[in-house]
Amino acid sequence: MRLLHFTDDSFERHSNGSGHPERPERLGAVAAGVRAAAHVEIVEAKTRPVERKDLERVHSPAYITAIEGFCKAGGGKLDPDTGAVPDSWEAALRAAGAGLEAVDRLENGEGAAAFLTVRPPGHHALTARAMGFCLFNNVAVVAASLLERSQRVTIVDWDVHHGNGTQAMFYDNPHLQYLSFHQFPAYPGTGWFDELGEGKARGTTINIPLPPKSGGDVYRQGMAELGPVVEEFAPDWVLVSAGYDAHNRDPLADLRLVEADYGLLGQAVSRLVPPGRLIMFLEGGYDLAALKGSVTATLDGVAGHPTPSDPIESPKPAWQFLEQALEALSDELG
Ligand SMILES: [Zn+2]
Repeated sequence: MRLLHFTDDSFERHSNGSGHPERPERLGAVAAGVRAAAHVEIVEAKTRPVERKDLERVHSPAYITAIEGFCKAGGGKLDPDTGAVPDSWEAALRAAGAGLEAVDRLENGEGAAAFLTVRPPGHHALTARAMGFCLFNNVAVVAASLLERSQRVTIVDWDVHHGNGTQAMFYDNPHLQYLSFHQFPAYPGTGWFDELGEGKARGTTINIPLPPKSGGDVYRQGMAELGPVVEEFAPDWVLVSAGYDAHNRDPLADLRLVEADYGLLGQAVSRLVPPGRLIMFLEGGYDLAALKGSVTATLDGVAGHPTPSDPIESPKPAWQFLEQALEALSDELG
């Protein structure tokens, strides 16, 4: 499989402050993971900075100006979790622009999928607020651009945290389907299974909250049950908020995925759209070895070669959570 891999030196220069888990060293681990994929032919691709008009589809003009001013004035803390330095401005622009470049190049037939090794991550960023290590919502910028061209978009978010920013931006849009697996309760506190979208978009937001200690078996079952729901929605594109903090070794959360689970998730998302319509965006993931191995497994899975391995078994409440979420969804969809 031909994979477009996007990354940029500017991402190394973004900093949340010393000792922060969302650190530049993550990039090297992820890039090593990309290179280690056995079934992937890598095409290294250059990012481009996002244009203001593309950002303004999902962020307020005042917010964009404020982030630019904050970075250029020297940076600091935007909230207790989220920091920036002067170089963060360019990194944020390129993290948000990489996916647009990926769309162009995939439409040009240059690859079967794209993986974006970017930071800062994006899925917590709101229209007018930085949050949870995120400045601009990278996946949302791409989704909004595709929606403007009447494309249907499914976002699969397997980061361990709920993508509250992404959900909020498209909560009433019936042309975008948002599907998230995440730990609950956990940061940022949203993502209960009764959050299903509003108005004509009821049923296009799908949340699978999972209790601590949940393992890959419940993810595998959840994806198997939800695949037909995505097929029914019939997306033109699948965008993935690919966080790796649901891994068993991740220091920030308490779920129990193993590398092989990401391989099966990668294979599952690759089957939802034809080749050339899948873009994966790096979100979280804070254990470097887990990051590397999980990215490799994801890409080999996307290429159709997931590594077989048993999941860690989930406790009973995880199955109850999954069942509740699927019931709420089927009640909504009828
Ligand atoms: Zn996360």
